[in-house]
Amino acid sequence: MPLCAHELTHYPEAPLRIIKIGHPTLRAVAQEVSMDEIMSSPFQNFLEDMIDTLHQSGGVGLAAPQVDVSKRVFVMESGRNVPLTVVINPKVEYLAQHGKKSSTEGCLSIPGKRATVQRYNRIHMTYLDRNGDQISEEATGFKAIIAQHEYDHLNGVLIVDVMDLMEENNSDYVSVPLL
Ligand code: ZN
Repeated sequence: MPLCAHELTHYPEAPLRIIKIGHPTLRAVAQEVSMDEIMSSPFQNFLEDMIDTLHQSGGVGLAAPQVDVSKRVFVMESGRNVPLTVVINPKVEYLAQHGKKSSTEGCLSIPGKRATVQRYNRIHMTYLDRNGDQISEEATGFKAIIAQHEYDHLNGVLIVDVMDLMEENNSDYVSVPLL
C-alpha cells in the first residue's frame, strides 16, 4: 500500500526529551522541511510539543535537533521583546556593517555552563512560518542573538565551537539566557 511522504516521518512523543552535548544529532546538519510536511498534522503537533518544551525548560529558544529531530526548525520566545516565533527553513544573512557584540549564553543541551560568544547586532532572516507563509525580516537585539544561537544548532554548531570563554553557570548568573 503506498504511503504519503509525511506518513513516513515520525516525531518523538511528548514530552520531548532535550538531548545533551555528545549526542550525534546535535552535530548533524539538519534537513529542510517540505511544504507537504509543514502542512501535515504530525508536524503541526510536533511544533506544539516544541513550544510546550520551550516553555517548560525556562529557555528562550529551542531548535528541533535539540529534541533529536534533525529538521531545520526552531522556536523562540522571550519576555525581553521577542514574541513566540516559529522559524522553518531559515536563511540568515549577517549584517556585518552593524557590528558585533559579546553575548553570554547558556544552552539547554550543555547543562551547567555558560559561554561568551560574539554575535552580530543585526541580521536579515527569511523563513517559513507555521502556516508555510514566507517571512522576511530584520532582527536586532535579543531576538537576533536567539536566532543566531538557534540557527547554529541547525548547522550542527554549538556555543563551545564559537565561544571566547566558557565558565560554570552558577547561581550568581541566573539571568543568563538558555537557548
Ligand atoms: Zn543551544
